[in-house]
Amino acid sequence: MSTEEENRTVFDVAAASMLTKELRDVFASGKTRSYEWRISQLKSMIKMCDEHEEDIADALHQDLSKPKLESIVYELRDSEITTTISLLCPRALIFSVSVCPELEVCDRWIPYFLGFETGWEYLGFDSLSESEITMLKNSCALAIKELKQWMMPEKAKTSLLTFPSSAEIVSEPLGVVLIISAWNYPFLLSLDPLVGAISAGNTMVLKPSELSPATSTLLAKLLPEYLDVSSIKVVEGAVSETSALLEQKWDKIFYTGNGRVGRIVMAAAAKHLTPVVLELGGKSPVVVDSGIDLQIATRRIIIGKWGCNNGQACISPDYIITTKDCADKLVDSLKKELDTFYGENPLESKDISRIVSSNHFSRLTKLLDDDKVSGKIVYGGERDEANLKIAPTILLDVPRDSLIMKEEIFGPLLPILIVSKIEDSWDVINSGTKPLAAYLFTNNKKLKEQFVMSVSAGGVTINDIAMHLAIHTLPFGGVGESGTGSYHGIFSFDAFSHKKAVLYRSFMGDAALRYPPYTLGKIRL
Ligand code: NAD
Repeated sequence: MSTEEENRTVFDVAAASMLTKELRDVFASGKTRSYEWRISQLKSMIKMCDEHEEDIADALHQDLSKPKLESIVYELRDSEITTTISLLCPRALIFSVSVCPELEVCDRWIPYFLGFETGWEYLGFDSLSESEITMLKNSCALAIKELKQWMMPEKAKTSLLTFPSSAEIVSEPLGVVLIISAWNYPFLLSLDPLVGAISAGNTMVLKPSELSPATSTLLAKLLPEYLDVSSIKVVEGAVSETSALLEQKWDKIFYTGNGRVGRIVMAAAAKHLTPVVLELGGKSPVVVDSGIDLQIATRRIIIGKWGCNNGQACISPDYIITTKDCADKLVDSLKKELDTFYGENPLESKDISRIVSSNHFSRLTKLLDDDKVSGKIVYGGERDEANLKIAPTILLDVPRDSLIMKEEIFGPLLPILIVSKIEDSWDVINSGTKPLAAYLFTNNKKLKEQFVMSVSAGGVTINDIAMHLAIHTLPFGGVGESGTGSYHGIFSFDAFSHKKAVLYRSFMGDAALRYPPYTLGKIRL
């Protein structure tokens, strides 16, 4: 055992129990309920991002070789260009990167359109799922702006039965909550749920993923420096530490990760009747119809797949479904654009993240080496085991019973299935478990309607990839095996609040009929 390991205090069930007791006492003191406490924590979180932008980007780079541009902050909020645009366009707006000279540097791989939010306080790269730091800051800024409104009791209608009376829905913090996060966006997936838990006025424990150790260590160092250490704790560790935490009684568990562990979390929560949010994954399909602008479609698919952590993103395209007449053109376009983005030797590209661990590397190569897909690779396939890199890989006309179609890929492999007519895609998708996201590229209005009505998924984007995640007025979460519950924007606040029904009655209008003895005489009255 190394000295470092020896020195590390054991975090067992007893330690977890002491920790939750401490947090319960702090919650009972009422400290975290005040508006001022919540706002101060959110502001400190932004300060932490500003003062440690480089450290965060470095940690993400260490954990995943994530290109710095994927994590770095783009702060255009005060720049002339965005101010002008926000004044000119009070509504959400889409415009080309090419009008934005500051971005030329990343023009090669940042997608071609940026969506800007209405309120320019948190105007920025909401639409870039790559930008972990910016997305977190935007979340904090939105919560700071909206918190008063979110905390305000919501008036509800009453009925004649209770006349005279008034009613409201009061959002109260749940208490002590546990947040368990995953390695693929280790900074954002740890802190974005925290924004919700803080906004709602809870005390909390964050357990980052052990598979992204640099980010986990950084979070354990920075959070106590910037946030209220008596109310917000970080516990680092793997299965044994998480299991010790799961033995405790929590008021909510928010878990991000795979469904196998999701089941463990839900079973542990059931013992205490603790509600859960499970942010899981699944096989997110992309249906590509004919007659579309293929270049834009393929560029968006590429950025959504390989530009987001080399396919290691929960809503990245898992597989494509298209028709025979479309398939070859689609493959040609994908090849052309991939060459432009990542060059002839993508294993050397600095714009592609590595695979997180050797376990995941072998899991992915096993999918490629399955006999059922031999001869199906039409692009890529190269791997570099020493550096845990796998090149963007496309497989055409893959059989549905192959290994690659049986589990979530969560990596740089993209199989294409062929159907006789595009409407057959709905059955292909619905024959599997419900995905976290589903995508359709088409110009056909009827197909769009059919897709939205027929395909059950956590979220849907038509004619783009992953962008629904960037709209803070939309809930983000899964359905069925891709998860339960949701967050982002007000949905994060709601995820960590109890909606308390409150009825205010007066002493007037007290009907005798309500009280025994129930005699006919009272009814006749
Ligand atoms: P992971 O390996 O980091 O595990 C997630 C968390 O579970 C970690 O904190 C880990 O310590 C803990 N854990 C692992 N085994 C455990 C056990 N036996 N008992 C208790 N805790 C345990 O991440 P992962 O699961 O590989 O993440 C990838 C999966 O997460 C994919 O399926 C992906 O789609 C999904 N995901 C979903 C979202 C979303 O927002 N819906 C976001 C990211 C990833």
